[in-house]
Amino acid sequence: MKLYNSATQKREEFIPKDPSIVKMYTCGPTVYHYAHIGNLRSYIMEDVLEKYLRYAGYNVKRVMNITDVGHLTSDADEGEDKMLKGARREKKTVMEIAKFYTDAFFADCEKLNIKVPDVVEPATNCIDEYIKIIERLMEKGYAYFAGGNVYFDTSKLDKYYIFNDHDEEDLAVGVREGVEEDKNKKNKADFVLWFTKSKFEDQELKWESPWGMGYPGWHIECSGISMKHLGDYLDIHCGGIDNAFPHHTNEIAQSESYLGHKWCNFWFHVHHLNTTSGKMSKSSGEFLTVSLLEEKGYDPIVYRFFCLQSHYRKNLVFSYENLDNAVTAYNKLISRIAALKDEGEIDQSAVKELDGKFRAALDNDLNTSLAVTAVYDVLKYKTNDRTKLYLLGEFDKVLGLNLISAAEKAKNTEAKAEAASSESDPVIDELIAKRAQAKKDKNYAEADRIRDELKAQGIEITDTPQGTTWRKI
Ligand code: AMP
Ligand code: ZN
Repeated sequence: MKLYNSATQKREEFIPKDPSIVKMYTCGPTVYHYAHIGNLRSYIMEDVLEKYLRYAGYNVKRVMNITDVGHLTSDADEGEDKMLKGARREKKTVMEIAKFYTDAFFADCEKLNIKVPDVVEPATNCIDEYIKIIERLMEKGYAYFAGGNVYFDTSKLDKYYIFNDHDEEDLAVGVREGVEEDKNKKNKADFVLWFTKSKFEDQELKWESPWGMGYPGWHIECSGISMKHLGDYLDIHCGGIDNAFPHHTNEIAQSESYLGHKWCNFWFHVHHLNTTSGKMSKSSGEFLTVSLLEEKGYDPIVYRFFCLQSHYRKNLVFSYENLDNAVTAYNKLISRIAALKDEGEIDQSAVKELDGKFRAALDNDLNTSLAVTAVYDVLKYKTNDRTKLYLLGEFDKVLGLNLISAAEKAKNTEAKAEAASSESDPVIDELIAKRAQAKKDKNYAEADRIRDELKAQGIEITDTPQGTTWRKI
């Protein structure tokens, strides 16, 4: 498999250090708010990567952290802890906020068919790991104590900037939030490994350390958690492109200085989901969640389908118009699959050819849109339906689009709709027709209003490949 490696800025053959296991690490969410669909784009694409590695025959161990302490409002260690901000907003404790949004994150993942990684580790569980690494960095002269905090000294490195192929905008992340500069730093790029004094007064969670009561910096968490579960080497590290700098750059600096050797071979970065007015971000306040899409009548899997239709290294623009196009395409696809009959003998030569196409697409730097095309190639291919169903089931182990189960459901809904057609109600049918027209006219407010009006009358509507159905609740 060829993958683009952001550390070398080249497409390279992906070869794990130990062929018996791929060691994969993913930066997890900062659980102070709901994940937005931009965050989830990153997790969807990483999920496809993990599943494809397994499909290609690798054994994978994937680890993800949950950031529940130390991620400040600016990625460059300024501002206050995001968790504290969330706790204050909701008048709860940090741990209550962490529990609530961690559960919400995994509920969203489930709806999007994102597999839970083999190990999920909250940052607050591994304080001893961070202290061990920081102590060693101090001993080796890579870290210093100033103004009550411990900093990593970037001037000790021959090469600090690793990823230099991303936008100026991403590089500017450290100054984006316009907060004051930390005077304790010897060099501008130095970063905090352990906080005691800075922004400390109202920090809720703090631990004993050789440098006083305090809490870890965000970057050290990923190095510590990764080494705890995956050892001294990583095959692949994933995250959104905004994490490349400073977060991943700092992870590499501290991990390699601590270990004394190269740490991670491949860096897989997913580009951003943008709205028509710019990057979707939690801090901007204007963001979309999976629940919001559901409230508007969208099946979350359609959002996954929408993401798979474009390459992970291209920015993707979200609009309801684009999502509606994905709904239409997805529903048509499911109808075509629903029409297949489970008949015939598996045609091995067709399997070989079509599966070869699917693999070739994903071997080519995870080209998911070509992998989706391979699904259509199956439907067009001259072979029996059982072979097609078999291949679609196999491909869906990677794509996670519910191709088979949604087709089954569509068949059942169709049968039920036929049985219920005698019960049709002209008033409700007219409202449903008006809502369809409003959606067509992109008048989403009106479409939502009609849905709410029906709900108030005890009618629940569902958008299916065969059109909108309704039932009394
Ligand atoms: P956070 O919860 O803010 O730590 O972010 C979780 C993940 O989402 C990280 O890997 C980010 O790089 C990624 N991310 C943040 N914003 C976006 C976006 N608009 N599009 C895609 N990925 C994003
Ligand atoms: Zn991380």
